[in-house]
Amino acid sequence: MASTLAKVEEAPAIGIDLGTTYSCVAVWQHDRVEIIANDQGNRTTPSYVAFTDTAVRFIGDAAKNQVASNPVNTVFDAKRLIGRRFKDVSVQDDMKLWPFTVTSGPGGQPMIEVSYKGEKKQFAAEEISSMVLSKMKETAESYLGAAVKKAVVTVPAYFNDAQRQATKDAGVIAGLNVMRIINEPTAAAIAYALDEKSSNTGEKNVLIFDLGGGTFDVSILTIEEGIFEVKATAGDTHLGGEDFDNRMVSHFVQEFKRKHKKDISGNAKALRRLRTACERAKRGLSSSTQIKVEVDSLFEGIDFYSSITQAKFEEMNLDLFKRCMEIVEICLTDAKMEKSALHEVVLVGGSSRIPKVQKLLQQLLNGKELCKRINPDEAVAYGAAVQAAILAGTMVQEVVLVDVTPLSLGIETIGEVFNIVVPRNTTIPTRKEKIFTTVKDNQTSVLFKVYEGERTKSTDNNLLGKFVLSDILIAPVGVPQLNVCFDMDANGILHVSAEDMTTTSKNQVTITNDKGRLSAEEIENMVKEAEKLNAEEEEHKRKLGAKKALENYIITTRRKINNRHASSNLPATEKKKMEDAIEQAMQWLNGDTLHEADEYQEKMEDLAKLCNPILVASTPHFRTMDGTLPKKPKYEIID
Ligand code: AMP
Repeated sequence: MASTLAKVEEAPAIGIDLGTTYSCVAVWQHDRVEIIANDQGNRTTPSYVAFTDTAVRFIGDAAKNQVASNPVNTVFDAKRLIGRRFKDVSVQDDMKLWPFTVTSGPGGQPMIEVSYKGEKKQFAAEEISSMVLSKMKETAESYLGAAVKKAVVTVPAYFNDAQRQATKDAGVIAGLNVMRIINEPTAAAIAYALDEKSSNTGEKNVLIFDLGGGTFDVSILTIEEGIFEVKATAGDTHLGGEDFDNRMVSHFVQEFKRKHKKDISGNAKALRRLRTACERAKRGLSSSTQIKVEVDSLFEGIDFYSSITQAKFEEMNLDLFKRCMEIVEICLTDAKMEKSALHEVVLVGGSSRIPKVQKLLQQLLNGKELCKRINPDEAVAYGAAVQAAILAGTMVQEVVLVDVTPLSLGIETIGEVFNIVVPRNTTIPTRKEKIFTTVKDNQTSVLFKVYEGERTKSTDNNLLGKFVLSDILIAPVGVPQLNVCFDMDANGILHVSAEDMTTTSKNQVTITNDKGRLSAEEIENMVKEAEKLNAEEEEHKRKLGAKKALENYIITTRRKINNRHASSNLPATEKKKMEDAIEQAMQWLNGDTLHEADEYQEKMEDLAKLCNPILVASTPHFRTMDGTLPKKPKYEIID
């Protein structure tokens, strides 16, 4: 039999903003960027993954919606873990705030522990992020009607080499060819530049002010004839909308205490419900001067009714807003740029909608008008989609990206001194060389330790990796010439090598990254694991679908039996025969086991074989039919 196969074309390359709290996907087609809404109709998707005891795994809105009932198995903030080590201070600090468990895995890598299908399971941050990326890929695929293979993914400008590599790995696990990792502010600037192209003349200095749910980033770029150069970046990895929500939650916890003499601060469920109400109120306060906050039966059956003014909200967060302004000033200083030299200030991230934040920023920048044309939640994905189209060759407009290293890079020299090879804010890709020498007579090998950071003592910085260069020329101290080369590619990924210049034999070593990065084999295993999880979930969905179909058939048939019997076309013996069969099927269906999809199908066909001829024969309008079972019985579906 000839089978009909749909022609599966490859979809255009997509742009993904993989955010800490929300992610967004966009595509360039029909000469414009389209932001793609997910299956819930939302243009941004929570970066949440939830595991349950059945084979169901929720990603995005579905995961966030069930967080209250399943907090320990609902994972978010994977972006705060990706490319980091368990013992990192930031990981240790963040862990205190998460309801899910993080343990130390192979090579000191943080592993997220959840209960999935009744078993304890551990996932690397790359795997969780890959699940969010898969969701964004699927969202794009169902919109575009074709398989998506290529993507540009964005990361914060301050992400180091390991974090960028790990984000790329997450893309591989999700089955994506990550064509390029680009900085979020650069992506926002691309969106701005495209939007602005009609009046695009001369060099422009653009400040990107990105205040999201959990992080704050400021970047200064210059744009000229399609060339984007990041001049400087600054930020705070723990400053954003969630902090403003927390302040409001604390305010109302105090108010509840005053009004009702009860402390709700130890009740996780009450706090979560209050936080949701506060977040909603906060959004409302961006357009109203006062807003109600109401939570029914918040604690011990007590309803909570209150309100908050914009002025109060601003007062309770003023120090945080001022911190944002300080960071803007640091960035301007780093870029060696006067405020008056800024041509545009672009607002990115949902929290940049807060009127007081906008007012303070405008004041700081001597009354400069802020650019609000681009939707702040979507600008990063928008720019990533443009970059994806350029790299895939579907967009002819040439946009060249020039990014910078967010931190200085160098090696440790004697006395734990950090010797910088690539200074902070150097444009990338870059290749920088520096000559070093030995510290002892007849030294035959040197241990190179590669760090990133701004502190003069190497150990105060972040160790990226180390390697040994051996077979050095046997010579007195200071004679050998060891050339160290730092090579950073367009993705911001670093390769370090060293070579003895005094001998003809070249001895070159590439850095071994000891940041707990995944090996090729581990990535391969994770790809297989992801495919297995997806296949299992598909099978689970198939089973549930078949079960539902049988359930519907039973309900419909029961109704028909009762109708026929009521109109006395159906003999009592025949009715009993069908009822017994249905009762038996119902018991089987409602048992604890989830059967194979084929078994449900078979059961339904058995029932149909018994019931359909009797029902057809007892239907006055269809007496002329032969009463045999139609090959493909049509069942009514009741949902
Ligand atoms: P992002 O990470 O950029 O998606 O930003 C999400 C954050 O923006 C969350 O903390 C939201 O509560 C916040 N947010 C979204 N819309 C608004 C708004 N209209 N006013 C204030 N904050 C908002």
